[in-house]
Amino acid sequence: MEHAIDAVVVGAFDLGEADRVVRLLTPQEGRVSVVARRARSSRRRFGGMLEVGTHVQVVRARSRGRMMNLSEVDRIAGPDVARTELERIALLSYGCEVCAALAPEAAPAEKLFQLLIVWLDLLEGERRPTVASRVALEAKALTFAGLTPALGRCALCPEPVEDPMVFDVEVGGALHARCGGGRATPARALLELEALRRMPLADTVAQDERPVTPWRLSDFVQHQLGRRLQSRSFLETIGG
Ligand SMILES: [Zn+2]
Repeated sequence: MEHAIDAVVVGAFDLGEADRVVRLLTPQEGRVSVVARRARSSRRRFGGMLEVGTHVQVVRARSRGRMMNLSEVDRIAGPDVARTELERIALLSYGCEVCAALAPEAAPAEKLFQLLIVWLDLLEGERRPTVASRVALEAKALTFAGLTPALGRCALCPEPVEDPMVFDVEVGGALHARCGGGRATPARALLELEALRRMPLADTVAQDERPVTPWRLSDFVQHQLGRRLQSRSFLETIGG
């Protein structure tokens, strides 16, 4: 038997007739998958503790397979208010996907884990996180994953930021249009993204103004992952 570890449930899928594979984000081991035996055949066994966005303590046990088995789960905090509104559900799924996708497997991800905890906490608050909050989450997640985007400067030259500017996912940030290609991104949009990157996440819920370029950093996340974020289209559909 192993010791208990802190984790957030970030996803799950069915395995065979009775089991579920549960994906976790943990501070010490980054992304981890465990098998929840009989999670489907007996709903009572793990209760609602395997819902995405639930902060849990888990104990794992060795198994014959490649993945460890989930032997015990304790709920520390679960989505409550966050499950009452479509927009919050979308933001919850998105935050879990972004933080987990940018985390390493089997290596520490303390800051990404803490970021997700703060995000889940915000989703329980009276004011729903804004589009600016979501963009700030992306900026911080990229930074904590070691992929800090160049925003307040040109990624290729020391000249000051001035229009026309572009954002190039290949070089990981802003460029003068004369320095390279990418999507047109006004200097004020870049400075806004940099301000959000530095702002405490809790302060962003007061930012009612929609960022000028609300999807640039999400595009950058997708480019780094080499795939679409599954939860993004739902968020886009509802105007997030
Ligand atoms: Zn330049």
